[in-house]
Amino acid sequence: MRYEQFFADAIARIKAEGRYRVFADLARQVGRFPNARHHRPDGVGEVTVWCSNDYLGMGQHPAVLEAAREALESYGAGAGGTRNISGTTHLHVLLEAELADLHRKPAALLFTSGYVANEAAISTIAKLLPDCLILSDELNHASMIAGVRSSRCEKRIFRHNDLDHLEALLAAEPRERAKLIVFESVYSMDGDIGPIAEICDLADRYNAMTYLDEVHAVGMYGARGGGVAEKIACMDRVDVIQGTLAKAYGCMGGYIAASQALVDAVRSHASGFIFTTSLTPATVGGALASVRLLKGEEGRRLRARHQERAARLKDRLREAGLPVMPSVTHIVPLLVGDPVQCKQASDLLLDGFGIYIQPINFPTVPRGTERLRITPSPLHGDSLMDELLIALGEVWRRLAIRKAA
Ligand SMILES: *Cc1c(COP(=O)(O)O)cnc(C)c1O
Repeated sequence: MRYEQFFADAIARIKAEGRYRVFADLARQVGRFPNARHHRPDGVGEVTVWCSNDYLGMGQHPAVLEAAREALESYGAGAGGTRNISGTTHLHVLLEAELADLHRKPAALLFTSGYVANEAAISTIAKLLPDCLILSDELNHASMIAGVRSSRCEKRIFRHNDLDHLEALLAAEPRERAKLIVFESVYSMDGDIGPIAEICDLADRYNAMTYLDEVHAVGMYGARGGGVAEKIACMDRVDVIQGTLAKAYGCMGGYIAASQALVDAVRSHASGFIFTTSLTPATVGGALASVRLLKGEEGRRLRARHQERAARLKDRLREAGLPVMPSVTHIVPLLVGDPVQCKQASDLLLDGFGIYIQPINFPTVPRGTERLRITPSPLHGDSLMDELLIALGEVWRRLAIRKAA
């Protein structure tokens, strides 16, 4: 066996398709977000980051850093164990209470990431229900698909946001069969929103449970940052709300919020929760400060500015004839439609203009819909936007990329 050859061949195939991934070697700088240093073979350059999921810049917020520092100094670098074996610091307990309150649920449970939360919670919930059928939106995130897979339960995939299709699948099952509908609020590659209230209506009608991933909405939507379900007054209708502390909250970690019994059952059965060291005190302390801040006045101010920035950027791209895709959220996808051109556009922005926007290629999005996914934050001012528009116009011209229809 020439073992090495199989790995080399796997890489060669990806390269031939033009979707080999190179990570930008960045150093973000506190106080200068969205600017970062870019380390490359020929030295260090300056870039403006336009694709961060630290949507509101909370990763550098002074109060978040202060809370993280204080937790580090008080409790040490690591948690020292799994939650069960001495790894529950008081901060973990406080953060879970804060998240339960955020979503107006009786309980919440922390995981080491949003990915782990989905994988562990979906698989455990489905496994605990007898003969559970999982109904999953076709555009669900890889972590939800991992949860569905590892449950080993029967599944049906419904067409993206297609209520008629979902209803047909539900109606085909006996009313008494356990059913779990898993879906997202903000779909992060297109920036569209799932029909939460309507899916809850179907769940009521067909006796199903609902599991909602609000990863790209928590901190950013709703009066207290509880997500789209809070914004449309639907939180109490969703059985399980899942979120991350790594995007708008600017830190790390994932969670679910739900009923006492459900959370306790997941806590007691989920391998991905039980058998791993808990989040570091600094991470939990920072996240706790971030969640609290975004519940209040400062959160409302940042959310308003965030939406204004996204709307402004979409308008400007449209005026420039650039093919901005029809997003209704803070996510601004710009269609390229070819993996090689998408990578070239990203490279040219970085090398020629000091602008960093990650190319989004298959398998993250379907082939033919390769795109640049832009995420303006409250800290991307008008002059940065001017620079971006000039650079994009030049890149579209030089690479002869299709403009808007
Ligand atoms: C990023 C993401 C996750 C994973 O969250 P992490 O905290 O980054 O692990 C889960 N669901 C969706 C929809 C995501 O985009």
